[in-house]
Amino acid sequence: MIIDCHAHLSTYDDDALIPYARSNSLSYSLAELLENMRRFEVTDALLLSPPRVDGSIVPNEHTIRLCELSNWRLKPVLTVEPSKEHVESCIKLAKSKKQVRAFKIRLGYVKVSPIDPVFLPLYEYALSSGLPVLFHTGDTATKRASLKHAHPLNLDELASSFDKLKIVVCHFGNPWIVDAAELVYKHNNVYADLSGLFSGYTRFSKKYIETLVSQLNRAIYYIGSVDRILFGTDYPVEDHERAIQLVKSLDLDENELKLVFYENAKGLFAL
Ligand SMILES: [Zn+2]
Repeated sequence: MIIDCHAHLSTYDDDALIPYARSNSLSYSLAELLENMRRFEVTDALLLSPPRVDGSIVPNEHTIRLCELSNWRLKPVLTVEPSKEHVESCIKLAKSKKQVRAFKIRLGYVKVSPIDPVFLPLYEYALSSGLPVLFHTGDTATKRASLKHAHPLNLDELASSFDKLKIVVCHFGNPWIVDAAELVYKHNNVYADLSGLFSGYTRFSKKYIETLVSQLNRAIYYIGSVDRILFGTDYPVEDHERAIQLVKSLDLDENELKLVFYENAKGLFAL
């Protein structure tokens, strides 16, 4: 059994992930996502709003509607933008929809620091409700986004000052995998997901995946355990088959695979 901690979907024509879907020959639809989940024994997936071509987000209400249409096999994650109004509306939405399992902050896409005071009420609510906060880190899907803001080390100070807040470093900070590993090693409240680490095909894809596997193994050896490492596809950025294959290629025994694919997420997101 598998839990996918990071998937996207929308029916918007200006969804910025459509080119990724094309490069993976995916139709990027609810029917396809649910069918792939069934095929690969993915019991639950956390659904996040995709970015739009103009840099804004698909509204959280749309994400919630898709989750509802899936009979809640997809669980909503609310994307929180850096304004007082949006923070307040997301807290309100989370309170009214018990299916909401986490929040997400886009850092590089909105060029904001995770310790910006605008997010304080969100962190207080996340702490009191036990909901984790996911942070996009590493390479961004749109060209206008800021890599400096998307660097995983930006989360160090937040992890120290809110040491009970559950923080997820999305995409293992790729390509700053070593930096993300240090955060997970240093802070007991920091997790990293393995989603969205590759997409499409190039002449070097095979070599790149080999390099990725060795980088991730080194990160795991450095951290010394997989207790806070999570599986994710970042659908449609990765297809299910290759996402699962990547994790199976890591230097992990049966029990560790179970933790990464299922148990860690089950505990963290109370699924
Ligand atoms: Zn994503």
